[in-house]
Amino acid sequence: MIEQMDAPLAPLTTLRLGGPARRLVTAGTDAEVVAAVRAADAAGEPLLVLGGGSNLVIGDAGFPGTVLRIATEGFALDGTLLELAAGEVWSDAVARTVAAGLAGLEFLAGIPGSAGATPVQNVGAYGQEVAESITEVVAYDRLLGETVTLANADCAFSYRHSRFKADPDRYVVLRVRFRLADEGGLSSPVKYAEVARAMGVEPEQRVKLGDAHAEVLRLRAGKGMVLDAADHDTWSAGSFFTNPVLTEAQFAAFTARLGDLRAPAYPAGEGLTKTSAAWLIDHAGFRKGHGSGPATLSTKHTLALTNRGSATTEDLLALAREVRDGVRAAFGVELVNEPVMVGVSL
Ligand SMILES: Cc1cc2nc3c(=O)[nH]c(=O)nc-3n(C[C@H](O)[C@H](O)[C@H](O)COP(=O)(O)OP(=O)(O)OC[C@H]3O[C@@H](n4cnc5c(N)ncnc54)[C@H](O)[C@@H]3O)c2cc1C
Repeated sequence: MIEQMDAPLAPLTTLRLGGPARRLVTAGTDAEVVAAVRAADAAGEPLLVLGGGSNLVIGDAGFPGTVLRIATEGFALDGTLLELAAGEVWSDAVARTVAAGLAGLEFLAGIPGSAGATPVQNVGAYGQEVAESITEVVAYDRLLGETVTLANADCAFSYRHSRFKADPDRYVVLRVRFRLADEGGLSSPVKYAEVARAMGVEPEQRVKLGDAHAEVLRLRAGKGMVLDAADHDTWSAGSFFTNPVLTEAQFAAFTARLGDLRAPAYPAGEGLTKTSAAWLIDHAGFRKGHGSGPATLSTKHTLALTNRGSATTEDLLALAREVRDGVRAAFGVELVNEPVMVGVSL
């Protein structure tokens, strides 16, 4: 266990924003993670769990407590069953499952961050979500003071949400277990139209696993969604807003405001329709690269808010509020932030 006082947090986030932690603890084993959490809880000390810092917006004032950085390692494959330690780098783990010829995570290639954070917001991309392949999550339960194993059905997974996100101060994820599939070197069915088009196949067809993985990385890089320290378009927290899910009444009101415009609309469960946050932002007049200050929209993707190098968290939040308010004024739809806010709010 490594301990540092008054430790800068900005370099530990992909936005490279945020003030210092009063105390930063880096834990390399599950036992160290549990011990650090127990110690903070016993002392009544505020605790922030940090993985890869790719979904965090930390306030300029920093964090007045213990930041626990999870640096555990462990990639164990047994047939089609995979167990990852929370600190494993997610994109590396995905690449290893593809190299092992197993389907289930191939469309989640290139997503930054740690394995342990993937159940928190039910990470997803290109028609795949971790909820589809997670069997169990092993977590330290701060309420019970013990390590528990939650079955998939107990994780309350939904679009970019879970029990862990709903109750952020309760669980610290230690291990995530997945069931992958041996499809003879082929991928899961291609669900996402953009991937199908790019690969020249029909939706629901399977493609070679390695090709699916490579194509997703290529598409993501084109949108600045693969980390590259030299490219400020990737100094982001990924998509800043979730795609709004509208009730029937909200969708009717939204459509009525559109006039001749047609917005993307996808079924999202009983009586619910999901539309595209990127479309809303774009059609509200915020183009790629919007902004003249040190925080702007990515020049490759309207949905990513980026730090051009000298931004503060307040600069980023000012831009986020401008976009949220502009979309509300244009379409009556309320955008909700996807990244977790620490010490700040929109
Ligand atoms: C360029 C870019 C592209 C992205 N693309 C996608 C995408 O396609 N799809 C997608 O879903 N997300 C995407 N993201 C968001 C982000 O990568 C994911 O949410 C990722 O899972 C966050 O992992 P992390 O380890 O960096 O979490 P952090 O940012 O460190 O933490 C995020 C939250 O999870 C909590 N947390 C972290 N680890 C644990 C743990 N072990 N136990 C309990 N809580 C924990 C933290 O306390 C915090 O609340 C993208 C981000 C970037 C920067």
